[in-house]
Amino acid sequence: VATYLRLAYVAYVCSRLPLSAVYVHRQLPPCRSKCYTSLRDPFDRLALASVILTSTHPCVLGHARGAGQHTMRERTVCADNTALVEELRRRGVIQSEKVERGMMAVDRGNFASIPQMAYMDAPSPIGHGATISAPHMHAYCLEALSPWLTPGAKVLDVGSGSGYLAAVMATLVQDRGSKAPGLVIGVEYIPTLVEAALQSAERDPTSRPLLDAGILQLRVGDGWQGWPESAPYDAIHVGAAAATVPQALVRQLAPGGRLVLPVGLDGQEQVLTVVDKDYTGHVKTKGLFSVQYVPLVHRNEA
Ligand code: SAH
Repeated sequence: VATYLRLAYVAYVCSRLPLSAVYVHRQLPPCRSKCYTSLRDPFDRLALASVILTSTHPCVLGHARGAGQHTMRERTVCADNTALVEELRRRGVIQSEKVERGMMAVDRGNFASIPQMAYMDAPSPIGHGATISAPHMHAYCLEALSPWLTPGAKVLDVGSGSGYLAAVMATLVQDRGSKAPGLVIGVEYIPTLVEAALQSAERDPTSRPLLDAGILQLRVGDGWQGWPESAPYDAIHVGAAAATVPQALVRQLAPGGRLVLPVGLDGQEQVLTVVDKDYTGHVKTKGLFSVQYVPLVHRNEA
């Protein structure tokens, strides 16, 4: 209840504040693009302000906590997708040519619902309480999975939401014309989000041919169950925090494969976790750093 009251209060205050006040309050650097002043729609202003002001709350998903270098101060709004990717590269979040190539190829602006937030390093709402994760979180997860994202690989993206990350991974695993053309399956439990993600992918010139070729597939399903039909997967990403590592996903991981997921309860400490399965089927788990994601819900809670 306290949380909702706090959010309601923040929403009320934000709707009366000019955004500049919000930025000053959080001691953010002056905005570099026109986004800052171009938000005319009060709803957009509210959404942006809420994300900024409530960024320590777990309902705002997908950003790394603490650790200095990833604080709100570092959030900038870039002019376009290229500038955003270059900024992440400059900050050392993107480290490999492969991740840079993938994130350059898919325009985040085609997947974000609030255009003014598309090129900002922050999560932004996509409806139904879900958000497209912050670009730096996408980059970290892609880096963690990078050696597994090879042409012809099979990948599962659980809690695929906007479809953006699934599309980026599909560009990296595609090997059209070969016997194993590559496959990324996004699984999302809210059907309207899957619909919207499919429309976004159709709009995106890089993603559309991957959809048409069946290399990128976005499905409605319960992520706790994975997607057994196409298992095993070389790489699995989960975009929502699971209270415990879902055993179905570990089973669906190929020998030698890697699973990256946030683990922890809603509102409590969550850790971005890597699960590696060796060729004998033995599993090793390692925590990377603290994060905040929305929960991977159980179907009976949905
Ligand atoms: N990587 C996505 C993250 C979306 S937010 C992106 O950047 O767009 C996390 C998503 O997980 C939400 O869309 C939410 O609806 C979904 N989700 C939560 N529980 C789920 C479950 N049990 N099965 C499938 N999807 C789930």
